[in-house]
Amino acid sequence: MELADAYRRFTAGTHAIIDLDAYQRNLRALRARAPRSSALMAVVKADAYGHGAVQCALAAESLVDWFGVARIQEALVLRARGIRLPILVMGPPNVEELELAIVHDITLSVGTIEHVAAIITAARSCGRTSQLHLKIDTGMHRYGFHPKDALAASQYISHQAELSLNGAYTHFATADESDQLPTKLQIHAFEEVLRVLRSHEIAPRFVHCANSAAILTGMTGTTNMVRAGIATYGISPSDEVPVPNEFQQILSVKTRISRVFELEAGDGVSYGLSYRAEKREHVAATAAGYADGLPRQLSNTGWFSAEGNLMPIRGRVCMDQTVISTNRKAASGDAVCIIGDGSLGEMTLDDVARIAGTNSYEIATRVTARVPRVYVRDRDVVAIEHLLLGEAYA
Ligand SMILES: *Cc1c(COP(=O)(O)O)cnc(C)c1O
Repeated sequence: MELADAYRRFTAGTHAIIDLDAYQRNLRALRARAPRSSALMAVVKADAYGHGAVQCALAAESLVDWFGVARIQEALVLRARGIRLPILVMGPPNVEELELAIVHDITLSVGTIEHVAAIITAARSCGRTSQLHLKIDTGMHRYGFHPKDALAASQYISHQAELSLNGAYTHFATADESDQLPTKLQIHAFEEVLRVLRSHEIAPRFVHCANSAAILTGMTGTTNMVRAGIATYGISPSDEVPVPNEFQQILSVKTRISRVFELEAGDGVSYGLSYRAEKREHVAATAAGYADGLPRQLSNTGWFSAEGNLMPIRGRVCMDQTVISTNRKAASGDAVCIIGDGSLGEMTLDDVARIAGTNSYEIATRVTARVPRVYVRDRDVVAIEHLLLGEAYA
C-alpha cells in the first residue's frame, strides 16, 4: 500500500497526527535553554510518550546527541529501524537481554552490583565491551547506587576489561514543583559523588541530572548533558513548571462522525443512560473510545470539536464509541478533533489529564496501538505507523 492510500484509509477513522516540525522546534528550544555546549538526550521511552519512537527518533537524529529509553527492547527497536546515535537504557536492565543490548551497542544503566556482575558475564560471552552509565540514587529512592557506594562501584567497574564507564547520572524527584530545595539537595549530593570520583581519577565522559522541568527552571548543576522528554513533545512537566509559549504540543487525535441523529427530550445516551436530553438535541456517534486512549472520566465532561465548534461528550465514553452533541450541520464522515493544541478551543492533553485526575504524561502514553500515527512535516504526510497492524509506510 502506498503512503497516500494508507493516509486515505487510516484518516477515515480515529487517528493521531504528530507534527514533526513542531517536535524539532521544541528540541531546538530545549537545547537553547540547556547550559552552553551541553549534550542533549531526547527521551523517547514508552514509544516516545505515545508519539511513536521510531519516527520521532528519525526526526530528532540530526538535532540531538543521545536517545534515552526505559527498556532494552525499546532500544532494540530503534536500532532495527536504523537509528545509529548512542542510546541509554535508563531503567534497570532485563538480565535476559544483556547480550542483545551489548551486541547492538546499547548503553546500560547500572544501579546495583548484581547488574554489574550480570553485564560482565554477558559481555564476556559475546566478546564485546559494554558501555555503562552509573546511576546514583540521590533521593528519588527508586533505582541507583547509594552515594556512599558510588566510588566502590565505579572503581570495581573501571577494573573490568569488559566494561567501560561512559557516564554517571541521577534523576530528580521533584524538579516539576515550585519548591526547589529537594532538587538543590539532590544536585549537591550528585556533585559531591562526582567530586569524590574525580579525586580518584574517575571522570565519566557524560554527567547528567536534568529532566525537562530542571532544564526549564535552570536546575542543571555542573553537568554536560541534559535529558529531555515531556517538553520535547510540547507538554508542560506540571502546572508549576509550564513550558514557555514557544513550545507547541505536537500530538493531535482526530476521528470521524459515524452516525448523526436526534435525541428527544428525556432520551438517555450510552451505558447507564447517564445523560438525558432536556430538549430535542442533535448528536453524533464517533468511533473513538477508551480503548483508543480516551479516559472514561471524560464521560459527560470532555468535549470534541470541529473548527472551533465545541461538541460536549454526552453519556459515558464506551470502549470503542463516544456520543457528542453537535449541531444541525454535522454529517456522517465529518472530521472531529478529540485532542489538539487548544488553539481553537479543542481539549489539550492537559485538559484531558485534569479531567482524568492524572498528568499529561499518562494521557499521551495511553493512546493505544490500534490508533494509527500519521507524521507530518512541511505540511506533507511523511510517514504512517500502525502498531496493531505492525505496518509502517513512508
Ligand atoms: C523519563 C525520564 C526522563 C525524562 O523526563 P521528562 O520529565 O519527561 O523530561 C529523564 N530521565 C530519566 C531517568 C527518566 O526516566
